[in-house]
Amino acid sequence: MSRSATATIHLDALRANLARVRALAADAKVMAVVKADAYGHGLERCARALSGADAFGVASIADGLRLRAAGHRARIVVLSGPDAASDLAEMRRLHLEAVIHHDSQLAMLERENGGEPLRVWLNLDTGMHRLGFAPERARELHARLRALPAVDPAIVLMTHFASSDEFDNDLTARQTQRFLDATQGLPGERALSNSAGLLGWPAARGDWVRVGGLLYGLSVAAGKTGADFGFAPAMTLTTRLVAVNRIARGERVGYGATWECPEDMRIGVAAIGYGDGYPRSARSGTPVRIGDAPAAVIGRVSMDLLALDSRSAPHAKVGDVVTLWGPQLPTEVIADHAGTISYELTCGVTRRVLFTEDDV
Ligand SMILES: *Cc1c(COP(=O)(O)O)cnc(C)c1O
Repeated sequence: MSRSATATIHLDALRANLARVRALAADAKVMAVVKADAYGHGLERCARALSGADAFGVASIADGLRLRAAGHRARIVVLSGPDAASDLAEMRRLHLEAVIHHDSQLAMLERENGGEPLRVWLNLDTGMHRLGFAPERARELHARLRALPAVDPAIVLMTHFASSDEFDNDLTARQTQRFLDATQGLPGERALSNSAGLLGWPAARGDWVRVGGLLYGLSVAAGKTGADFGFAPAMTLTTRLVAVNRIARGERVGYGATWECPEDMRIGVAAIGYGDGYPRSARSGTPVRIGDAPAAVIGRVSMDLLALDSRSAPHAKVGDVVTLWGPQLPTEVIADHAGTISYELTCGVTRRVLFTEDDV
């Protein structure tokens, strides 16, 4: 095999993470968010491991179709809803539920004449200012939706938080209050929290939590890993060393010659690069492991290859396993070194990487 970059998905971690989310969510139902191919972990395998959730959340009808084709009969919510009238027919055929966040979607529903009742989640914008209706319109919109025979009367009321990962930022409390005020007295379940909302804002638990990151063992809270909250990373990314070379002091390594050897030293070269989804923005000093020994990225990440300072791994040799992230090397730490968040790293693993599963 000429490429050895491998993403191993830990199904036991997914199941344990779901159990932990359930414990934190108390009586609230759990929507397992599996958009973007389950944050890069693979939709079908993750949905299998997470099939105990009360619903799945997806970003597209196509993902809903994949879940139905895999035999899932659970509730599936399309988080940005229909874009066109033809989507409504497809959603009914597949028994998908629609988030309704815009007048254009409401107009589509009002133009329909009949059809099997569609389950609708009414999205109110309480301060994120991405998707959603003004909260002041909650009553009017709720009444209009309830008047439609082709809409299931059990409408779920939802909102989304902008800064719930900042546990000392009171924007989340203000968003929660706006939501509660706007929906007071309306019938229906409430769905407010994402992963960080579940961790940090118990008052926003509502009837549903919509959780993605934590199920994959990932956190977006600054300086915190998923493991810090008791969650287990669901992906290990590894490859192998394809070269170990002795390079002299003062020589420079990689494109742009950005890194200079401070001494005569051995440099390992790992078969992974940005063509596999390892971030090009990872700076010199980003930690990796060669076998059980710590090592670090040096110079620029190239498309297929990565140079490693192997001074702390003196026995490194061609063929050794190199770990880029996983339980021993938090994705959040790598993301920090690359100026991004863990979600972007797992979502970015490319099709060139071999995916395998382990299940203990
Ligand atoms: C992606 C998403 C979530 C999940 O967010 P996490 O931080 O991964 O838990 C929840 N709700 C909506 C509307 C989303 O788009």
